[in-house]
Amino acid sequence: MAPSHVAVGLATWVVAAPVLSLPMLQPLSLGLVVAGSLLPDIDHPASWVGRRTRPLSSCIAAILGHRGITHSLVAVAVLVVSLLESDYHQAQIWPLAIGYASHLMADMLTPRGLRLAWPMRRNWSIPLCRTGSPTEGIVVALILGLAWWSVSHGPPRRPDTMVVNAPARPALAPKRSAAPTIKRLTARTQPAPA
Ligand SMILES: [Zn+2]
Repeated sequence: MAPSHVAVGLATWVVAAPVLSLPMLQPLSLGLVVAGSLLPDIDHPASWVGRRTRPLSSCIAAILGHRGITHSLVAVAVLVVSLLESDYHQAQIWPLAIGYASHLMADMLTPRGLRLAWPMRRNWSIPLCRTGSPTEGIVVALILGLAWWSVSHGPPRRPDTMVVNAPARPALAPKRSAAPTIKRLTARTQPAPA
């Protein structure tokens, strides 16, 4: 369900952002995490994102089926490579990619699982809960708890990685060459002309 995907996406992001030295609570980053966490279900016309992208979602569902390529590592790789090749900043690429990957991780916790190594037919699943069941809420709460524990027990973070990008490091002043000093000393030690 969409709220669960958003919650798992944000939980994954608050753990991953400090590792990547990216701003954790920047509104744009959070928005991209949410978008990424919902995007894979564009292959399902009845999903939250699928209802808003018809008839595109209906076409994708008809051609590729639900939990096909959009729910695979191929999709994550294509997304990351195409974003890296574009002019987008790292602070925009990684939130989207991590939100996307978190969706796959969450879907893998259902009995249906997903074809993570698409086009291979093997189904990957760690069946902890059914979609929409009360157990889903418990699993999501556990993931949120783990994320909170990780953030509160992790190494201390600089304030600038919480909200905004770290300011660019000022350029080092060019080293003064020792040559003039040597020249001056040489000149001083030379005997005066007769
Ligand atoms: Zn899905």
